[in-house]
Amino acid sequence: MKVAVLGAKGRMGAEAVAAINSATDLTLSAALDLGDSLDQLVSTGTEVIVDFTTPDSVMKNLEFAINNGIHVVVGTTGFDDKKLAQLKTLLSNHPKVGALIAPNFGLGAVLMMQFSQTAAKYFESAEIVEMHHAHKVDAPSGTATRTAELISDARAKAKKSAMPDKTSSGLAGARGAKVGDVPIHSIRLRGLVAHQEVLLGDQGETLSIRHDSIDRSGFMPGVLLAIRSVKTRAGLTFGLENLLDI
Ligand code: NAP
Repeated sequence: MKVAVLGAKGRMGAEAVAAINSATDLTLSAALDLGDSLDQLVSTGTEVIVDFTTPDSVMKNLEFAINNGIHVVVGTTGFDDKKLAQLKTLLSNHPKVGALIAPNFGLGAVLMMQFSQTAAKYFESAEIVEMHHAHKVDAPSGTATRTAELISDARAKAKKSAMPDKTSSGLAGARGAKVGDVPIHSIRLRGLVAHQEVLLGDQGETLSIRHDSIDRSGFMPGVLLAIRSVKTRAGLTFGLENLLDI
């Protein structure tokens, strides 16, 4: 299978290039970065692209790929409802093309999200602390946003009451940014890679669910699984959990 990487000089893109080069069933057809022409995707016969660029660039790349019948695997974060709606419209015009968006390709991170969703209905409160390297441009992280959405949905389904919080004064941002009804606190520090802790609390007990990515290579089994699956999944697949037996 011919696979191209967009954002190939970036941290995640470079890992993806190495992973594809090591896989005997995949051929790296192009390694593109900012300024390179997307026409190379067509001239090299690329079947799947892997996009690890930036939230500002990704839609233009996906539009080009999908309009040319190329399947897309997307790690770039920042997919809000507006972008997802745009993507669905694009895909509806190309019904054989598959798009797989994974806010997190780490197996442990996907499990953390699932465990948090399962636990949410048993606790009155949930908050998320996500911690990343200082070069990350978006906050909160895509993983934290997705986790908060899953927890919020689980709480709504279980008809949970509002989380208790008597804060009546304080600095703006001190209580984090809310996605649904879940506050997310973002930390950016040199020395970190990608870490997240979900804190759930109720009377007399707390539960912490924590995941640590200590090396970007940890995302690659998930990326390779997505590349190998996307051609057989026409339309939009959101989340690596859809490819796992969980
Ligand atoms: P990064 O090191 O900044 O890499 C991004 C690369 O994409 C840079 O080389 C950048 O070039 C290039 N680029 C920007 N616009 C482009 C375009 N239109 N076409 C081709 N290349 C373009 O960032 P990163 O840490 O690798 O992360 C990339 C994305 O993946 C982020 O959105 C991040 O949040 C996400 N991420 C996802 C996962 C996951 O598991 N889903 C894990 C980690 C990170 P310049 O530097 O010249 O601008």
